[in-house]
Amino acid sequence: MKKLICLMLSAVLVLGLLCSCSRNVYPLSSTQIMMDTVVSVTIYDGDDGVLTGAMQLCKRYENLLSKTVPGSDVYKINHANGQPVTVADDTAELLSIALDISKKSGGAFDPTVLPLVELWDVNNATAAPDDAKVKAALTSVGYQNILLDGNVVTVKNGAGLDLGGIAKGFIADKLTAYLKENGIKSAIINLGGNTVLVGGKNGGDFSVGVQKPFGKQNELCATVMLRDKTAVTSGTYQRYFEQNGRLYHHIIDPKTGYPTDNGLDAVTVVTDSSAVADGLSTACLILGLEKGKALAKTYGAELIFVDKNGKLTVTDGLVFDKNGKENILKLKE
Ligand code: ADP
Ligand code: MG
Repeated sequence: MKKLICLMLSAVLVLGLLCSCSRNVYPLSSTQIMMDTVVSVTIYDGDDGVLTGAMQLCKRYENLLSKTVPGSDVYKINHANGQPVTVADDTAELLSIALDISKKSGGAFDPTVLPLVELWDVNNATAAPDDAKVKAALTSVGYQNILLDGNVVTVKNGAGLDLGGIAKGFIADKLTAYLKENGIKSAIINLGGNTVLVGGKNGGDFSVGVQKPFGKQNELCATVMLRDKTAVTSGTYQRYFEQNGRLYHHIIDPKTGYPTDNGLDAVTVVTDSSAVADGLSTACLILGLEKGKALAKTYGAELIFVDKNGKLTVTDGLVFDKNGKENILKLKE
């Protein structure tokens, strides 16, 4: 974990240096570590004040949705001992999206994975937990344990909330709305790999890289040409530890209690809502190709799967560029 934070900080420093040299020349960019990841907003019009406002807004949402910030809505829910908790409109909105994806994914996406996430603790662990502990943690996992009635949240059966699989996407949507309200026509929001493209770039599309799982830094396996869309990736390569040559990553199958292991290394979701894309990316990595495709269809989302052999599979709405550049994808017109 220390290594990860060091890498993030050096990325921030490099970006900071780049930004300080080009303050009055577009793009303008701001990068900070928040929500345990690198948050950056880059604008191609507008001014610095908008960037400052975007970062403040991001911090506000972190303080509302983080499970570790005392006083956040999620913290209050997790410490309420089953009593009803009144939450902010934003939290209720996010929970409603999360529960919808939970239902439609048959529980592959499940925001009550908290005890499993804490048990596996992949950022710090060096060994897999005992199977008995996994089974014990599973007993309070189940999205049906979350009752949402307007702004009132009640949790049954000792369950706990972890919105790590969807909150970044939701916050990216809120930042998008904020930038648009402030007149920004062209921007990239990136919350630890949750990307939103506001408008296009110089009249064309933005190109969004799909990272090669376990590749070198910045090595891509595909590029997607997009504007006014979001692209969100979940991957086994993002946070993990190894024990006896086996890799244990941070996306847990709520049916088994173990990191999902189905031959896929990454799924990228392309759609309009980043909250939906975030939830779907986690769900589809667990569901695999066929069930993942069916789920994405119900949300009108497109998928790029990368399997353990590096093979790409894409849904019908995406096409490979015909000009001999096979790893460049675009949305069908
Ligand atoms: P990242 O946050 O690294 O971009 P994801 O969006 O896929 O990747 O979210 C992974 C995070 O979601 C985990 O770190 C954990 O907090 C939480 N999580 C793990 N498994 C699940 C699951 N099955 N359903 C919902 N959330 C999950
Ligand atoms: Mg996700």
